[in-house]
Amino acid sequence: MEKRLDVIDLFLKLLSAKSITPNDGGLLSYIEDYLSDFEATWINEGGVKNLFLTKKFSEGKHFCFAGHVDVVPAGDNWDTNPFVPMIKDGYIYARGTQDMKSGVASFVQACRDVKEFNGRLSLLLTSDEEGDGTYGTQIVLQYLQDIDLLPDYCVIAEPTCEEVFGDTIKIGRRGSINGYLKLKGSQGHAAYPEKSVNPVHDIASILGYIAGHDLDNGDEDFAPSKLVITDIRAGMEVTNVTPHELNMMFNVRNSTKTTKESVEEYMHKVFEGLDYDLILQQGSFPFVTDHNSLIVNRLRETIEEVTGVKTKLSTAGGTSDGRHIAPYGIDVVEFGVINDRIHGINERTTIKEVETLYKVFVKMLERL
Ligand SMILES: [Zn+2]
Repeated sequence: MEKRLDVIDLFLKLLSAKSITPNDGGLLSYIEDYLSDFEATWINEGGVKNLFLTKKFSEGKHFCFAGHVDVVPAGDNWDTNPFVPMIKDGYIYARGTQDMKSGVASFVQACRDVKEFNGRLSLLLTSDEEGDGTYGTQIVLQYLQDIDLLPDYCVIAEPTCEEVFGDTIKIGRRGSINGYLKLKGSQGHAAYPEKSVNPVHDIASILGYIAGHDLDNGDEDFAPSKLVITDIRAGMEVTNVTPHELNMMFNVRNSTKTTKESVEEYMHKVFEGLDYDLILQQGSFPFVTDHNSLIVNRLRETIEEVTGVKTKLSTAGGTSDGRHIAPYGIDVVEFGVINDRIHGINERTTIKEVETLYKVFVKMLERL
């Protein structure tokens, strides 16, 4: 039998800790000790622990791996204990196998094993990614900016692959804008519509301009930014009183071509002349890393060399900590194992994928 790689033992250790957000389950201290020749800085705030590890090998660029050790609660109905990893038929079952202890184990082991590196190598670890993330990656980056130690390039080892290992790198993410619109009217009797202002009638002709409307045409990285209505209500569930006001909620998963300001401008244009309040909240900002960035190229080349798979560049899916990293001008990409059971029951990944991810990271570090 082939000897199991160290990365798998480390992975099993990480999986055994019950690190439900924002608890790190002791993992950050464990990793600090595991990488004892890296300089460690703790950035703790609001009950959240974050660890930044760094080592300067030579003059050159600053490269950083980023990831979270926290996981979402397991939920019921698992076939095995979600915090006691179980190996069966080449799979490892436990909470966090895909999201994202496989990624963390792979890059921590790669950093431990690398002997030479062209520049500075760092690791940014948080225990608050699955929660609201207020005291996670964001505050570490603020700290790094303050001490003038922001990385040039970053790989987040979130699970990104779709069908086979190596098929997808995320080079960006869409943003998310939530909208709340209150259209005002004046309540009245259904028999005397001329004496009231009915917000349902007022919005009727406007709906065609907003429901499912594409706010831009998209581009090679992003699908069009669509205005999606999620809730619309008015009235008192009777047939003889017209409503006083109408409330609508909507969401836009926005590309870099659409901003909160441009959504606002569009809504003001279509609702012109009516009495309404509009609140827009940007939950996260979109970002995209240049296709020709050094990190995109090196990662793609290495994946193809190790797996033979040609990698596609994607911006699909929800948000990630990349949204906090990219605004600092850091080229950020995400790459990790197949993502098909994250946050679900019986979450699992294969030993083969984790070993291959580790090998990709080792080789990528040699190429950087
Ligand atoms: Zn994750």
